[in-house]
Parts: sequence; structure tokens; C-alpha cells
Amino acid sequence: MQANYKDKMEVKIAKNSGLCYGVKRAIQIAKKTRRLKSGKVYTLGDLIHNPQVIEELKKREIRPANNPEEIKEGTIIIRSHGASPEMYDLLNQKNIEIVDATCPIVKNIQKLVSKLAEKGDEIIIVGNSKHPETIGLKGHSLGKGIIIENEEEARKLPFKKKRAVISQSTQDFNTFKEVTGALIECTEELNIHNTICKSTQIRQNATSKLASSVDVLFIIGGKNSSNTNKLYQISKRILKNTYFIENAKQITPEMIQGANKIGLSGGASTPPEVINEVSKKIKSNFKHQYHREKTLQCQS
Ligand code: SF4
Repeated sequence: MQANYKDKMEVKIAKNSGLCYGVKRAIQIAKKTRRLKSGKVYTLGDLIHNPQVIEELKKREIRPANNPEEIKEGTIIIRSHGASPEMYDLLNQKNIEIVDATCPIVKNIQKLVSKLAEKGDEIIIVGNSKHPETIGLKGHSLGKGIIIENEEEARKLPFKKKRAVISQSTQDFNTFKEVTGALIECTEELNIHNTICKSTQIRQNATSKLASSVDVLFIIGGKNSSNTNKLYQISKRILKNTYFIENAKQITPEMIQGANKIGLSGGASTPPEVINEVSKKIKSNFKHQYHREKTLQCQS
């Protein structure tokens, strides 16, 4: 089938697409650690949820270790998502040197969880139950944390006199609002802490605006990236023609058939080069009369 393209194709990139402060910082710390250490250097799990960056780090001899039990010696980098106190204890017992690249914003959420736990409150953590940041946050809750993924789960909770609620830093704001709304109905005194990171909120707002103004939107990032998945869900709610891709090779002519305006948005773990590569591919492979590229200035 011959794809049909419009004469004027415009490519717009959502504001703040690409690596967030915490992830950039973690990559810099990992590279610096590699330069300074002669022994083996590991990261606790994938340093970021992006296959291209993981491959580049492997070439530099920085390897992910999913199970710290396997590590006998060397240095381990705690990624931007942080880890539970038990994990630090385990690594210390094994005499493995720890380089802590936990994002300072995540560190503050961990401290908040510890403080709330000391008061004895039940703490609802709104987030992905399998995500390392959420697991790490629960680990700081002295056993008082409960991970809730959505409103449906929140509605199953029993009535309580007092509760606190916080969120994973990359949580979708709508989900946080829905869960909080459900908790109000089963809690006499609910202490709400919106701990969604500012950069996440800006990215989500920019992606929503972009989805409302283009014909097709590509969400670019690793399939295992929680925040990129959230961007996909947000965009898909607004625009049916939203595609989740990991790289430029996954774009097919059918995806952009008939599109006049194409939007691109990348998650907090998507390097700018990957976004630029997608933009380049659209420009060169689907070249028509002309293309314009501009960054959509979404006000947060
Ligand atoms: S999304 Fe925000 S809190 Fe999470 S790593 Fe990035 S800067 Fe830190």
C-alpha cells in the first residue's frame, strides 16, 4: 500500500523531553566512578531504563547486577531510583563499596517516608509495585508502607482513622488524584504529600498539550521505563494515534500516513540523541515538500 503523506509535515518535540536531572547525574557518577576505580564496577540493576545507554555502559565495563548476591568484589552504584536500607546493609555486609547515585529528590521522599513511619502512620505509596524506587520507598517505611497502583486497589482498603499518602516521583498525576480521592472516603484523617517530581509534571503536561495539537505522537523510551509508560498512557487517552517506540527503526510509513503534524516526547530515561534520531528518520525517510521542527513551548 502506498502511504499517503500531507504536503506540509511538521515535527514538534515536547518541552523537557529526554533525560531528567536525576538520571543525568547518575550517568555522570557512573562514568566518573569507572574512571576512578580499577576493579569491577556494577550498577544495582539497570542504571537507567534505556537499552541504548545500558549497551554503552557495558562497553565501558559498567555492568548491571540484578542480584547483589552474585557480586563478590568491586564497586556498586545505587541508581537514581534509590534502594531500601536492607539493600545497603546487605552490600555493606559483603564489603562491596557503594557509590550512591540516588537522585536527591528521591532521597527527600525516602526521608519523608522514614519520618512518617516514625510517627506510626500507615503510609500509602502510590506507584508501580515492581518499580525499584517504590520498593526502595517501602523499605524506608518500617513495615508501615502499602503500595497501591490504582483507584481500584485503594477502594479495597479498610477504614482507618489516620493515613499518609505519597507517590512515586514519576507517578501520573491523574492516578495520584484518583487514589487520593478513594482514600479520603476510607480515612478519617488523610495526610496528603504530592511527591511527584516537578520535572515529571512538566513532562506530563507538555506531552498532554502536544497530544492535543498533533495527528500522531511517538513516545520514545525503554519499554521497561515506568515514566515513559505513564507518558504513553497520558497521550493515548487524548490521541488514539500514539505509538510507544524504543528507537527510530520501529517507525513504519503506515504509522504516519496522512499525518500533518507529528509529535515526539521522550521519558526521563530517554537520551536526546535517541529523540533526535527519530526526528531525523522522519525527516529523511518520509521526506516530502518540507519539514519544520520546533520545540513546543508548553507552559507548566
Ligand atoms: S524523575 Fe525527578 S525524582 Fe525521579 S530521578 Fe528524575 S529528577 Fe529525580
